Parts: sequence; structure tokens; C-alpha cells
Amino acid sequence: MSRSPVWHPFHQHGLGEDIPLVTHAEGAVLQTADGRRVLDAISSWWVTTHGHNHPRIMEAIRRQTQKLDQLIFAGWTHEPAETLARGLVEIMPDGLDYVFYSDSGSTAVEVALKMALGYWHNRDEVRHRILVLEHSYHGDTIGAMSVGARGVFNRPYAPLLFDVGTIPFPAENPQPTLDALEQACAKGDVAAFIVEPLLLGAGGMLVYPPQVLAEMRAICAAHGVLFIADEVMTGWGRTGTLLACEQACVTPDILCLAKGLTGGSVPLAVTLATAPIYDAHYSLDRDKLFYHSSSFTANPIACAAAVANLEIWREEPVLDRIATLAQRLAQKLDALAQMPAITQPRQCGTMIAFDVETGSDAGYLAEIGPKLRAHFFARDVLIRPLGNTVYCMPPYCTAQDDIDRIAEAMASGVKACGR
Ligand SMILES: *Cc1c(COP(=O)(O)O)cnc(C)c1O
Repeated sequence: MSRSPVWHPFHQHGLGEDIPLVTHAEGAVLQTADGRRVLDAISSWWVTTHGHNHPRIMEAIRRQTQKLDQLIFAGWTHEPAETLARGLVEIMPDGLDYVFYSDSGSTAVEVALKMALGYWHNRDEVRHRILVLEHSYHGDTIGAMSVGARGVFNRPYAPLLFDVGTIPFPAENPQPTLDALEQACAKGDVAAFIVEPLLLGAGGMLVYPPQVLAEMRAICAAHGVLFIADEVMTGWGRTGTLLACEQACVTPDILCLAKGLTGGSVPLAVTLATAPIYDAHYSLDRDKLFYHSSSFTANPIACAAAVANLEIWREEPVLDRIATLAQRLAQKLDALAQMPAITQPRQCGTMIAFDVETGSDAGYLAEIGPKLRAHFFARDVLIRPLGNTVYCMPPYCTAQDDIDRIAEAMASGVKACGR
């Protein structure tokens, strides 16, 4: 076969690694063209919540394709977008009353930042500075990279990224974090603080307690700094509750959702905002409108998939499934943590992670990452370590047998590749 013209994301083609071809998927299993059944232990990069090809979501997509495929959304609307927005406002924290559509987590973050800046601009207050949490990740577009950690992911683009204030990650003692946030907010030039609640994903699956999230939110509120919760990964049950923010009784000013919004089936994102943010753009003055759109804003088929996801949340015992999965994963993590090469075992809902002692090299480009990935794949398990950090976050339908297989692959991988 001639070489494929497809250029893959986060993939070094120069290493000549095989690229599996997947033809079908169901539940937690990916079926490859050469007949392998691979366990999707990372929910196809954190998006698949209930499982692949959930019948209700697939059926909703099929039905919508008979009616309306796509529609300009500037000043026009359709039923799936209206139903979804109402459904979201109903189940999201009180006060998040407005829903803006886009199509990926990165764009949901861009929209959030632009809403925050627009809010201050339209109120004629000079606030441009954005605060971020150390090690955070918010997407790969220029604005989203700007509010994310600087490092291997974005070194070539660093000159273009805008300057932000970085608040230290809340380690065991969160006081330095809270102090730094207080000082930065007190300067009066801060427009917004953007955070991944409870669990920082691409930054290394780092967790911090709900209490700290609540305190950070309170500091922002005291200074009028807008609080943006990026729940693109943590939303839709990943941390054990529908939103991670719920565990801290936090209502953000702006909330970003994507990945699991359609159950992970098709691309769609939303940015929710409170009335003050919407109202700052509401005017007889056309110049105050919110200047953001993309061609596929609120695509009807994607909205229909998300409406079906909401029905699943309403009518199926999703939180029970999540609790069961989290409990099973906790048992596995306890056992794994006994291995001498494993450090920093951690869990947040249906995500478990640990670091593997390698002797010398750590970080995203650690050699052990690809070695472990190959080890897992040889055992028909899809796990992509972040450097020497190994984690899994399987779909909520994952059965006990399959969790056993994931844990076995992790244990043998650490034995084979760890120090
Ligand atoms: C994945 C992710 C994003 C980016 O979402 P995309 O849909 O990949 O653009 C943003 N924020 C967080 C926290 C994420 O995990």
C-alpha cells in the first residue's frame, strides 16, 4: 500500500510506527481491520462517556439527518439547538442561563475568553489580563495555547502567545496558590481566571481538592474577576459528578463544555454564561454584539446527538455506573500502588493515574511513554501515557473483566518498562 496522505495529530510520522485502522466500535471496544478487539481505556482521548455507538445517540443522529443537516445560526434557529440549550440550563448550576454554541473544546475556550474581554470592554472598564493555573491545558488554538502551560506542546509558537499571569498549582499546601491569586486579583487589571476544576488533564492528570476550587472561586468573586471553568474534560461525569464544580458548590461565571456533550459521538461545544455577561452584550447598539461565529455553530445533527445525551443522563442510571466504575478503578489503583516503581497514585472519579519511576527521564517526551504505549497495544489495550504518567479513564460501560485487563496491562507494563 502506498504511503497515506493523512497527517495525524500528536504523532511523529518519522518513527514509522504502525497506525491501526479501526472499522467498528461498540461500548468500550474498538474493532480493527485486522480483526483485533482493542479496549479503549482512554475513551478515545477523553470524549466517549457512555460507550461507543450508544444506540440512542446513533438513532437521534439518524432521525435528524432526515430533517435538517445544517443552518446558518446568526439570527436563525432550529429545534435541536433550542431543546438542547433549555436542557443544559436546567441541569447546569443555577445562574448559567445563556448558551453559546461552537464546535470544539478549544473554540469553547476561545469563546469564553472573548466573552470575558467583551464584558469588560462593553462596560468601559480596562481589564485585559487573564490568569491561569500552572500546568493547565485548554486546547491547541493560539488563544487556548496562550492560556495553557508553556512547554513542548507549543514551543514553536511561543512568540505569538499572549502574556498571562500564572498561579502556582495547588500542591499539598494550597496557601501559596491562594496568596498568589489574591495578589494578582488585587491589582485590578484582571479580566478572568480560567481553570480546569479538580483535574488537570494534559498537564499530567494532576488533582486538587474541591475546597481549593471553592476558595479560588471566592477570591475571584471578591475582586470581580470572572471565573471561567473549563470542564471540557471534567464535565459529563468524569470526576464522579455531572460537573467537577458541583463538588465544590461552585457556579462559574462562564463554563466550557465539549468532549462528552454529545456522549463523545460528534463534535459540538458550548460556552455557558451568566446574565451579567450576556447583558453586557445586550444593547440597542449593534456594535456591542458578540463577534464570534464559526460555519458549523450549533450544527443540527450534533445538537440532536447532544439532546439524546441529555435524555440518557435523565433516564439511565449514569451516576450509578460512574460510581461503580470509580470504585472498581480505586481497587485496581490500590493494588498497583504497591509496586515499587509506581509513585503518586491518584484518582478523580473515573480517572486513575500514577507516575512510573524511570531513573532519569521524565516529562512528556520521556522514552518510557512510547514503550509503554506499545506494551499496552500488544495486549489490545489503548492507553497513551503522558510521558512517564500512566492513566486510564474508560467509558462508563466498561465491565469488570475489561477493567481487570486494563490493570493487568498496566502492571505488566510497569514491570517491563519501569525501574
Ligand atoms: C481537550 C481539552 C480541550 C480542547 O478540546 P478540543 O475539543 O480538543 O479542542 C480544552 N480544555 C480541556 C480541559 C481539555 O481537556
